[in-house]
Amino acid sequence: MSRVRLEHVWKIYPGNVEAVRDVSFICEDGEFLSILGPSGGGKSSTLRMIVGLEEVTRGEIWFDERLVNKLSPHERNVALAFETYALYPRLNVYENIAFPLRARGQSKSEVDRTVTSIAEALDLTSILKKDPSALSDGHRQRVSLARAMVRKPNVSLLDEPISHMDERVRAVVRARIRRIHDELKTTTIYVTHNQAEAVAICDRLAIVEQAELRQVGTVDEIWNHPANRFVASFVGEPPMNFIRGKLESPQHISIATKEGKRGFELRKEVDPKYVGSDNISIGVRPQQIKLSLSKGQGASIAGSVRIAEFQGDNAVLTVNLEDLDNSEIKVVVPSERMGGEGDTVWMEFSPEIIHLFDGETSII
Ligand code: ADP
Ligand code: MG
Repeated sequence: MSRVRLEHVWKIYPGNVEAVRDVSFICEDGEFLSILGPSGGGKSSTLRMIVGLEEVTRGEIWFDERLVNKLSPHERNVALAFETYALYPRLNVYENIAFPLRARGQSKSEVDRTVTSIAEALDLTSILKKDPSALSDGHRQRVSLARAMVRKPNVSLLDEPISHMDERVRAVVRARIRRIHDELKTTTIYVTHNQAEAVAICDRLAIVEQAELRQVGTVDEIWNHPANRFVASFVGEPPMNFIRGKLESPQHISIATKEGKRGFELRKEVDPKYVGSDNISIGVRPQQIKLSLSKGQGASIAGSVRIAEFQGDNAVLTVNLEDLDNSEIKVVVPSERMGGEGDTVWMEFSPEIIHLFDGETSII
């Protein structure tokens, strides 16, 4: 197994299409890293360069102490499962999964043991004798995944590997992928555009947008300390709310309302150069806002509930704030404490939940 290191990697396609721009990150030996970002951001291009299916335009890719830029996929000993599963059409499911094992000279009984066990883990036992043409897209994708995970590669690279499965199956397969990883400890890089999926499955996230790496970190780090506004709003559902504020002092921000200013303390001091600036974005996550039907002790701002959506244990409220912009924000509350449409509510922003951004950049 290997540690994968990208050093200032670029991919420029003919016609000067910059798909990957100066990207550097490390996936540690045995780690489960997810490359997350919107469609067209350069995720697949990055993965295909790591696999060796796409030439690196500039920069270096290292597997441990070995520079792999010029090595073929075979020499890199990587396994790839991608969105469009290339299964061998003439081989049944069992033989498709067994293929890479046989190619490596495993004995018949070894192959049988491995195929049986991965088929059980990914619920493929009942379809082992079927041909790929007889399978649904979701099943084909699962076979492709089994084939990639079975061969104990140096690195396992998965590109949107569960995108064609039904919603419910997806959650199950996601958990199985993680469990197989925890058993085999294969270094795994998992590409997805789905933030909930990435957050659920990985140790660390590498967030990519418009060909550039925006942040690398654990789910906790990204959630609590997003480096910029893009990351802050991309990870989390519903996304972080943004409200315009003015920095009154290095540790004190205000929101303007018709009835005067509402002041909030910050968790730490901001660079004094921002003091006086009245175009600071205050970011607050819908899940962290404390909402009450009466004005409480903490620093709060009022608003009125416009929409209340019931979602099982929780409800998502769309609230119009009393600020001058009449901002619309989302607040997640336990269903039993859900306010009704038209209610006036008070929302507490405690220092720990406040993020501040100047333009795109986080300043706290
Ligand atoms: P993602 O996987 O994040 O959706 P991709 O890596 O597939 O992103 O694509 C990144 C950008 O590179 C896109 O603008 C895409 O159109 C372009 N692109 C991808 N593959 C090629 C190619 N073979 N030739 C030219 N442009 C490409
Ligand atoms: Mg892609």
